[in-house]
Amino acid sequence: MHYIVFDLEWNQAEGKIGHEGGLPFEIVEIGAVKLNRRMQIVDRFEEVIKPKIYPRMHFMTTKIIQLDKEDLENGKPFTEVMERFLEWCGRNYRFCIWGTLDITELQRNMCYYGMDELTHKPLPYLDVQKLYSLAYEDGKTRRALEFAVDELNIEKDEPFHRANNDAYYTAKVLEQIHKSHMDVEGYLSYDLFMLPQDKRDEVKVKFKTYSKYISREFPDKTRAMEDKMVSSTKCCVCGRQTKKVIKWFSVNGRHYYYVGSCKRHGFVKAKVRMKKADDGNVFVVKTMKIIDEPSVDAIREKQEKLRAQRAERRHRD
Ligand SMILES: [Zn+2]
Repeated sequence: MHYIVFDLEWNQAEGKIGHEGGLPFEIVEIGAVKLNRRMQIVDRFEEVIKPKIYPRMHFMTTKIIQLDKEDLENGKPFTEVMERFLEWCGRNYRFCIWGTLDITELQRNMCYYGMDELTHKPLPYLDVQKLYSLAYEDGKTRRALEFAVDELNIEKDEPFHRANNDAYYTAKVLEQIHKSHMDVEGYLSYDLFMLPQDKRDEVKVKFKTYSKYISREFPDKTRAMEDKMVSSTKCCVCGRQTKKVIKWFSVNGRHYYYVGSCKRHGFVKAKVRMKKADDGNVFVVKTMKIIDEPSVDAIREKQEKLRAQRAERRHRD
């Protein structure tokens, strides 16, 4: 398998985003680096795309990216570039990007031009920005690419904000993370441009101390919470039924929490996030993980605060 680290530069709608038939971001450049299993660079790809939807560059974009009018005029059509890119990627590859946006926007652009889908379900990828945080920081902070490059003493010999260079720097950061012996495949992210259409396409992954589940669509929240997989409170490590410590409660109608205890693995937290699909249905991203006692107390506190607020509201009305 090859790792394909890519980066996009895009142009966007002036004013209100989401115009022009649902393509808020038009890709104007693809830069990519191909890595082998040891995260060594084996090939590079670079192509400028001639803008078709937004021929005038948005002022924000022109400030950031290093492409000028002539570069863009000489660019090739999106579909042509994309076909070459996918051929270059080969059969067996894993996409890697800095952050979370580029894989969604790549698929949205492909969809706009009527190209075949890359996949019909959530697409696994490596978010190098997240991996950087997990390897060197708290796992939650998100840094700019240049920050990571500086911190890791990677030589800065090319300007940032050209797709090709950003992909190269992202690859160098990934190489360092790999050298620090982090099992990057244990921290896969999933792009949700394509949602699971049925049970078969649902995502169910187990990592060392946590698990992730991405459900098919449901007509509403109640129906989602009634689903066996969504409401299941089995331990994410061993699969044994947990003993209830804090029963399911909702924070704002979008997030639901549960805490149980497993004989073997201690406290287990389940968190359900309700997400809206484009068609108005809902789907669920559920994570479960082993937590310590102070974290249980923090969740209990959250629940009690909510109760107090509700009681106060009732009293006022
Ligand atoms: Zn267990």
